[in-house]
Amino acid sequence: MRRLPPRRKTIAEPPGPTPLSADDSTPAGHGGADRHDAFVALGANLGDARATLRHALDALARLPGTAVTAVSSFYRTAPVDSDGPDYLNAVARLRTACAPLELLDHLQALEDAAGRQRPYRNAPRTLDLDVLRYDDLRLDVPRLQLPHPRMYERAFVLVPLAEIAPGLVPPDCLAAVAGQVISPIPSD
Ligand code: ADP
Ligand code: MG
Repeated sequence: MRRLPPRRKTIAEPPGPTPLSADDSTPAGHGGADRHDAFVALGANLGDARATLRHALDALARLPGTAVTAVSSFYRTAPVDSDGPDYLNAVARLRTACAPLELLDHLQALEDAAGRQRPYRNAPRTLDLDVLRYDDLRLDVPRLQLPHPRMYERAFVLVPLAEIAPGLVPPDCLAAVAGQVISPIPSD
């Protein structure tokens, strides 16, 4: 698989909904009636990446008040701003009662459980779980930016996201990352 071309120019995110403040990210009610749609990007390029992604999807479905409502194909991609072996990537849609930061806590715990280490920025990783979107929430606090600030630069996010939620990926955004190598792998 050939290497990706150098980092492309940042694609401006299309106009979105009215920004909300961090105060609007309060936890969902304990009754569980308050559910939210979140999109999570999964990536792995160390170890048995396919098994890791499958295990992670099972673990996402076991998070409190959470169902996995859609999963993309798994895609093989060359590293972007990273190194090491090719990645496997996918995107999942969750219906969850977790608040945004609570969801991030769970994702980071799953990364840690998969042996994730962070020796340097963008290092190869056993498991990366990023929140792409949480309803239409816009959030900018040190631990969590929503929508994910770099998602529109990355074919490994946009292609699987477009597979399960085409309305969230404008065609011009997909076209802008068309030079990045990404190929679906057969499911078995
Ligand atoms: P990468 O940017 O390569 O995914 P990490 O997984 O190590 O790197 O995450 C770095 C930091 O990014 C985390 O500590 C996390 O708090 C922060 N972060 C900010 N926004 C998000 C998001 N939308 N999803 C996941 N992590 C995020
Ligand atoms: Mg991450």
